[in-house]
Amino acid sequence: MAIMPGATVRLVPNCTKGGQESVQGVILHIMQGTLDGSDSWFRNPISQASAHFGVGKTGTIYQWVDTQDRAWAQAAGNRTWLSVEHEGYAGTALTAAQLAATAKIIAWAQGLYKFPLQSTDSVTGKGIGWHGMGGAAWGGHTGCPGDPITAQRPAIIAAAKDILTPPTNSSYTVKKGDTLSSVAQDHGVTLAALLAANPSYKSHPDDIKPGDKLAIPPTAAVWVVVTKGDTLSGIGATHHLTLAQIVGLNPQIKDPDTINPGDRVRVA
Ligand SMILES: [Zn+2]
Repeated sequence: MAIMPGATVRLVPNCTKGGQESVQGVILHIMQGTLDGSDSWFRNPISQASAHFGVGKTGTIYQWVDTQDRAWAQAAGNRTWLSVEHEGYAGTALTAAQLAATAKIIAWAQGLYKFPLQSTDSVTGKGIGWHGMGGAAWGGHTGCPGDPITAQRPAIIAAAKDILTPPTNSSYTVKKGDTLSSVAQDHGVTLAALLAANPSYKSHPDDIKPGDKLAIPPTAAVWVVVTKGDTLSGIGATHHLTLAQIVGLNPQIKDPDTINPGDRVRVA
């Protein structure tokens, strides 16, 4: 079972169970239509077509095929590549929300299958490819997904790396009433980790005063990208956090009732 957390699971019959032999990377497609149109086409056995994922213009993610199963998206390329369909028509670019959602899929898949986060235009390569690169053996869809989307791959990859890379050391200025323990707790790090990043306090951890600058070490923070329909409490529930806990992890969010597709939310 490999189902992406946060995806709307809408498994379709059009796939080869257990048929995903390996994963060289992810192939980008364009639907030449809508998310709902593709959804009904892929659950129609007559179409003999599917994809692992579909991404709507507003950032909705559908998972149609478990990634251990082979989707029917790019003929000879099906056995060793995952597939992502995009709502829209060839010749247009992905929306910002669509790009963020695709980056989310790629970040999740990369964590599982460890392909390099790079563009590739070769069927023997690894990374983020596009349907047309497979030529006739992949069904001859040379215009899929179209130049604007293949050209967005560096932006998709940068967004995926951003999701996967923990933040670096930040700085905090001590306020009245702070203790090292309270600063550690407020930033989601252990006291030991905070002392390791600020070794000068090791001999006198109680002796911090307002105005002191502390280095805050990177935590094993986990971020998710907001897609359409997400709420903060819903994201929290998925990650076993109360609304108060997820608000506490995300001081950058000014209004917990207003999160937008493409926003990043810390969940651990
Ligand atoms: Zn295609």
